[in-house]
Amino acid sequence: MNYHLVLTKRCNLNCKYCHGGEETGPDTEIQYSLDDLAAFLNKDDEIQLMLYGGEPTLRIPLIVELMDKFPQARFMLQTNALLLNKIPEEYAKRFHSILISIDGPEMVTDGYRSKGVYQRVLENARWLERIGFKGDIVARMAVSQESDIYRDVTHLLNLREPTFKHVHWQLNVIWDAEGNWQDFDKWVEESYNPGISQLVEEWVDKMEQGVVEGIVPFIPLVFTMLTGEASTMRCGAGIDTFAIHVNGSIGVCPISPDWEFSIVGDILTSDPKKLRNIMSVEEPCPSCEEYGVCGGRCLFTNKQRLWGEVGYNKVCNTVKHLTSTLRKQIPRIEKFIEDGLISLEDFKYPEYNNGCEIIP
Ligand code: SF4
Ligand code: SF4
Repeated sequence: MNYHLVLTKRCNLNCKYCHGGEETGPDTEIQYSLDDLAAFLNKDDEIQLMLYGGEPTLRIPLIVELMDKFPQARFMLQTNALLLNKIPEEYAKRFHSILISIDGPEMVTDGYRSKGVYQRVLENARWLERIGFKGDIVARMAVSQESDIYRDVTHLLNLREPTFKHVHWQLNVIWDAEGNWQDFDKWVEESYNPGISQLVEEWVDKMEQGVVEGIVPFIPLVFTMLTGEASTMRCGAGIDTFAIHVNGSIGVCPISPDWEFSIVGDILTSDPKKLRNIMSVEEPCPSCEEYGVCGGRCLFTNKQRLWGEVGYNKVCNTVKHLTSTLRKQIPRIEKFIEDGLISLEDFKYPEYNNGCEIIP
């Protein structure tokens, strides 16, 4: 199974849309021993550790220790990349995928994340390329009201040195709406949805030249539409993906250590086999016409509804705009596959759950 391993709750940034950043004190660090962790993980047949925080690179010696202790595990990393180049090269190269937080052009990224961040992130992504990192480098955007999805995704996709093989984004729509958005409806109507439409159209146009660009949310949704194979919750929360919090408790999702509903066990007493499929989404998802494609978007949001029912529907409407826009292009995509310009294989992503939630 996949485990988001929270290495620390501390972070070295304090981004505008984030609730983290300022955590201090002993409760912010791992309170269990690696032997306890091993006793739990060794009951599992296939171990994937997705290193998470806070900012996991604040604990580089721990990253090294984990990689030495679990040589059979597959590793993923989600990082703000400021300290990425401090990871010893041979350990950095062991990651299957590295999700790097960057929100778009310098003005947007620095506006949300702090001045100078954009340049440091690019420099450290270049370092990854220089040391011969062969894994997937994903630009992972947090999208909020200063974002222009068309401009920002296009900017990141077109960067060279460093090249982001994939671009993924998540809408800033989990926490309460107050203060985060001045006018979410207007932004969706005038900026986000039209931007998605334009991105989809240009993405499919490129397929005519045999190129399927790495826009993460589009790729697996099209795979589902092409094959008809329904998807479950795409982030895997509550199914085969869990979070191990710093106190050793096991939750369905890494962002909710303090929500009682989300804690389903702990590393001292739980058996990984009994965790699988422990929680699933509730209505309206199972009855939604897009359930097989969407999968329910976000288990945490489905359970907590911090935006209320009205807000929940507003976010669903962005999902439905995305899925309907992609669906209209399926005949063209099928034709490109039939003509041998691209293949179904191009839409098999991710190879393993790498922390991309897929549905923004
Ligand atoms: S679109 Fe909304 S209601 Fe439908 S499956 Fe996705 S999250 Fe659930
Ligand atoms: S999509 Fe939602 S449930 Fe899944 S990992 Fe992210 S916050 Fe948690």
